[in-house]
Order: sequence, then C-alpha cells, then structure tokens
Amino acid sequence: MNLVFLGYPGSGKGTQAKILSERRKFAHLSTGDMFREEIAKGSELGLKVKSIISSGKLVSDEIVLEVIENKISSLKQDTIFDGFPRTVEQAEALENMLEKYSRQVDAVLFFEVDEAEVVKRLSARRSCSCGRVYNVLTSPPLKEGVCDSCGKTLFIREDDKPDVVSKRIDVYKDLTSPLISYYRIQGIFHIIKADKPSEEVYSQIESVLVKVGV
Ligand code: AMP
Repeated sequence: MNLVFLGYPGSGKGTQAKILSERRKFAHLSTGDMFREEIAKGSELGLKVKSIISSGKLVSDEIVLEVIENKISSLKQDTIFDGFPRTVEQAEALENMLEKYSRQVDAVLFFEVDEAEVVKRLSARRSCSCGRVYNVLTSPPLKEGVCDSCGKTLFIREDDKPDVVSKRIDVYKDLTSPLISYYRIQGIFHIIKADKPSEEVYSQIESVLVKVGV
C-alpha cells in the first residue's frame, strides 16, 4: 500500500504521517525531513540543497528523484510519501519507479485547508532538531522554547519565516496544486478536512484506509 499525502506546507500532512507511521507501521518518506537531515549532517547533498530550501523554491527533480529511488529500492513495507511528489513530473516519475517493484500509488490524501490558516500555522510553528514540531498557539511545549521530548532549544525553520512562506505558497499553487486534478481523474483522490483538531483529522485518515482496504 502506497499513500501520497498532498497539501499546502503547514496543512498538517507531516504531523499526520508521523502519527500514522507510528500507529500502523507505515514507512514515512518525507523528502523535506530527508533534506533537513542532510543539511544538519553537512553532507554534499545537504550543501547542495541548503540555499534552495531556505529560499522556498523546489529542489531540482534530478536530486529529489535520486533520493527517492534510493529509498524505494530498499522499501518493502506500506509507505507514506509526504511532500513528494510536488510536481506532475515527479508524480509520473514516482509511478514509473513503483512499477519496477510491482507497486502503485493506491490512494492520495489531500489535506484541505485554506491559505490564511496555513500562514497562521507556519508562523506559529517551532521545530526541534529531534524532529518534533510544535504550534505555539495550539500545542505549545510545557516550557517555552524547549522541546518536551529531548530538552533542546526550539527554533523557527529558515523557510517558515514570513517572506519565504509566501514564496512556498506561490510555488505550491503554481507547481503542486495541478496534482489535485492529476490524481482526481485517476479515482484515487480523497479529501481530508485538515482544519480540524489532530485526532479528528486522524480519524478521517483511518476512514480512507478502511475504504481502500487497509
Ligand atoms: P517540506 O518540509 O516538505 O515543506 O519541504 C521543505 C523544502 O524541501 C521545500 O520547500 C523544498 O525546497 C524541498 N523539498 C521537499 N520535498 C521536495 C520535493 N518533492 N521536490 C522539490 N523540493 C522538495
């Protein structure tokens, strides 16, 4: 079973992918997380993508597809693709890659939320290097600025700063939103009303999984 989580940055797809992967043992492939790990390690790949990510633009298909292909080749379990594909070209490439392993995209979950909500959420987002993410308005850490899980200092992602957020939103509208009709016509598209509390969003995901037979 291969799921694609699609939606604006800040629509909650990463948070829900983490929850689903913990509760249902899905592999969680987040291209954004992978790039951030490479940047933190200071690897060659990290150095290549750092300034692109900080500017809010998309990393080139060539780089993204290489990273994904390496992962897919060793993955046998049910998988959530989070933040990938982000263009129609990437979606076509994903289909070709999966086909090699007799797999396919089984369902696309579109996290529907409006632009104003996304801007609000991204400006309230605080991140930790351990991977945990907080919203200081709705789910703040127990101690301000400090991660509940590991005690490290929280930070604002470079690309969550206001001018970069507006660039990311433009990029989403131009390059990623065409995926909505691309997947809708394939009959594998499901809308998740993502402007609800986390547990309500999660139960909508479970309902889709039941529908597609997981
Ligand atoms: P995310 O955490 O998914 O919002 O991704 C953060 C940034 O990583 C994006 O703004 C892009 O610069 C880059 N990125 C992540 N996934 C992709 C992708 N599939 N294609 C191109 N760039 C990506």
